[in-house]
Amino acid sequence: HKYVYDFAEGNKDLKDLLGGKGANLAEMTNLGLPVPPGFTITTEACKAYLTTGREPDGLAAQIEAHLESLEREMGRRLGDPDDPLLVSVRSGAKFSMPGMMETVLNVGLNDRSVVGLSNQAGGNDRFAWDSYRRLIQMFGKTVCEVPGEEFEHALDEIKSAKGTHNDLDLDADDLRGLVDAYKKIFAKHTGREFPQEPREQLDLAIRAVFDSWNAERAILYRRQERIPADLGTAVNVVAMVFGNLGPDSGTGVAFTRDPGSGAQGIYGDYLANAQGEDVVAGIRNTVPLQELEQLDKTSYDQLLGIMARLEEHYKDLCDIEFTIERGKLWMLQTRVGKRTAAAAFVIAGQLVDEGLIDLDEALHRVNGAQLAQLMFPRFQLDHEFEAVAKGIGASPGAASGKVVFTSARAVELAAEGEAVILVRRETNPDDLNGMIAAKGILTSRGGKTSHAAVVARGMGKTCVSGADELDVNVPAKRFTVGDHVVNEGDVVSIDGTTGKVYLGEVPVMPSEVVQYFEGELDPENTDDALVRSVHRIMTHADAARRLRVRTNADTGADAARARRFGAEGIGLCRTEHMFLGDRRELVERLILASGAREREDALAALLPLQRADFIEIFREMDGLPVTVRLIDPPLHEFLPPLEQLAVNVAVAQERGEDVAKEEALLAAVRRMHEENPMLGLRGVRLGLVIPGLFAMQVRAIAEAAVAVVRDGGKACPEIMVPLVGAVQELETVRAEAERIIAEVVGDSGVEVLIGTMIEVPRAALTAGQIAEAAEFFSFGTNDLTQMGWGFSRDDVEGAFFWRYLELGIFGISPFESIDTDGVGRLVRIAAEEGRAARPGLKLGVCGEHGGDPDSVHFFHEVGLDYVSCSPFRVPVARLEAGRAAI
Ligand code: PEP
Ligand code: MG
Repeated sequence: HKYVYDFAEGNKDLKDLLGGKGANLAEMTNLGLPVPPGFTITTEACKAYLTTGREPDGLAAQIEAHLESLEREMGRRLGDPDDPLLVSVRSGAKFSMPGMMETVLNVGLNDRSVVGLSNQAGGNDRFAWDSYRRLIQMFGKTVCEVPGEEFEHALDEIKSAKGTHNDLDLDADDLRGLVDAYKKIFAKHTGREFPQEPREQLDLAIRAVFDSWNAERAILYRRQERIPADLGTAVNVVAMVFGNLGPDSGTGVAFTRDPGSGAQGIYGDYLANAQGEDVVAGIRNTVPLQELEQLDKTSYDQLLGIMARLEEHYKDLCDIEFTIERGKLWMLQTRVGKRTAAAAFVIAGQLVDEGLIDLDEALHRVNGAQLAQLMFPRFQLDHEFEAVAKGIGASPGAASGKVVFTSARAVELAAEGEAVILVRRETNPDDLNGMIAAKGILTSRGGKTSHAAVVARGMGKTCVSGADELDVNVPAKRFTVGDHVVNEGDVVSIDGTTGKVYLGEVPVMPSEVVQYFEGELDPENTDDALVRSVHRIMTHADAARRLRVRTNADTGADAARARRFGAEGIGLCRTEHMFLGDRRELVERLILASGAREREDALAALLPLQRADFIEIFREMDGLPVTVRLIDPPLHEFLPPLEQLAVNVAVAQERGEDVAKEEALLAAVRRMHEENPMLGLRGVRLGLVIPGLFAMQVRAIAEAAVAVVRDGGKACPEIMVPLVGAVQELETVRAEAERIIAEVVGDSGVEVLIGTMIEVPRAALTAGQIAEAAEFFSFGTNDLTQMGWGFSRDDVEGAFFWRYLELGIFGISPFESIDTDGVGRLVRIAAEEGRAARPGLKLGVCGEHGGDPDSVHFFHEVGLDYVSCSPFRVPVARLEAGRAAI
């Protein structure tokens, strides 16, 4: 079995076997770029080690063979006392993962080879001892779990004894002393001397990389990011090159474009006379990469050439780590670089312009989550504002407000019209009311799946979690961050995308992407590269997609906005939203009606109001289909709550007031009270129980359509019956509806479709029968998830979902992204059996999932005709529908 690959034997497509780092080192080697020679131990070896607890047979010999050829190539032997070869040992899984061991440099140094290294470097003792102390430090920390602070502390002590902050002021003797101190620390914590045998160092480091796959943080990270637990990591063993050999050496990182904005140019940092981790560790100040041109023009020009070459080859933004050893440039790593949402769009557009990729590929390079991010308002940041802390961007948006520390205070201040930011160490279910009242939520603990993060995302509320620089003191009603003390009532601003926290009120500016969708920015005529690129990619997505995109809207204004955003009709108009406000009284009359006469009067009063609503919507959606859903929720939702009413009646009776009306109301509320209203008298059941209710709605829809057509418009109504579980329910409603429609539309030319929601599991499972009575299905995946899982959609997120997410039972709430295995299976069955019974059956989805990127791909795949989502998510659905189709 081949467990070890020379760099020359791999390529960039072997990430499963060689990990990301190894595959890309191999790719660069084969491109002829200056990569220090080395080899990669495969993920297979790691997996074998992790299952059996020991290195697989043959691995040691293969490492030996590759090491020997590396030694031959370099003309040096590992750890040779006179002229040592040193290597770095680097982990490299398929996906880069925090929590795993990263790197050990300078493996091969010991008390004897440190002298050889000095000679090799022309008698540079300082360099040799500095390299040795780094080995003990890194090896101790990452391989043997010696607390890193102890090494840092010892280093600080020596520096302060010398009266300096700069490690470059330490001379060879200082560093030799530091090596002694480090060895003592090592021995104290491990109970053994620092290993002097080079091959033992190497083997222990390799084993530590294997073991780090199962470090606690790595396991947690994988579970949360849905990275399979059995991939294993590769290990790269690379000949050392030195950036700390003097002023003509150094190390740096670079991006081929600006990963923040996507702008073309040179982006990176360089640090002279330094090794590896110094750049990221911020030990000394780096200089902008451009300054390398003055320091070493040859290397600089070569680096620029390589960067251009890499972009051309990977056809994407690359990030790079490099080292210069005495004027010779070495490439230590490259990969396709991470970028912001804005940069993703801008770069995709640029690459098309440069002819590197086509528009299909550009569409693959961006996603709906990025587009959604770009649609939030942003802080307008000038240098006046500097972040005081950075947590995790847990729920996007930009929010400013007065700081409060308790849920109760949040509710109180919000009731006075104040914008508040609820600040907690972490939130729990008791904080729910405060979270609802607050503009934003800020916690000092917890990650992307903490209670605060999950609940805030569910509410669409801005949230920064895990800002651990914050010291939150709830009883004292203040938090401290750095030198700042923030008291209750002080204003802070939080950015739920970047995770940054600012003191004071940062002004907010609207999203230019939204302005573009609103038609306020002409994409052909703007110098905004982002808007141009979004326009281009959206246009391509629209041309590519098969799925239509509709919107959920129940007012003319929402319908109009959605249409500007690209909606191609309404997939769900919730008519119950038209029963609120002043109309509640009419609904009350309907419910309290003591006989047919009174009921008919109440319905007659509602009819013209409903008709007017529909006329407005049909006009806005002129020529496009509009699915109107008959009333869905239990009627008692339109009445006052039982307990409050009972108290009011009792109090009024006490006062001797006339309470006849209230008593009737109370009796009705009692009569209609249900323990589980969500499973009770709602949806189609209402239509079957309350005579005339659905008939009134159907009549209003048909009359509105006729009125619009008479005015020269085109109305395409689709009447949808909610909560159907059996075809008999639908047949009963349908018979009455057809009679009314025929009567109203006459010869006006209006056509009305009648269909049903599929939101009860039984409906999905009997879809073949139901399709006989339905011209279309619309999947109500909210209720289908609720009833499929048995999760109350109104309660679970705050109650226990955070725990489920933490445990990895699912990676994302099934109310947010469709559970393809379970609920999705019901959708698939219903789609197949429905279409088998009625070819040409129109299929759509109108649950929240209709605007969720992953779910859109699923709905494309099962062959739905359209998705329907809230107006704001229409562009996201269009983009993802396009991505799903190519
Ligand atoms: C659904 O259940 O998915 C649906 C769209 O209906 P509602 O959310 O109104 O229950
Ligand atoms: Mg529903």
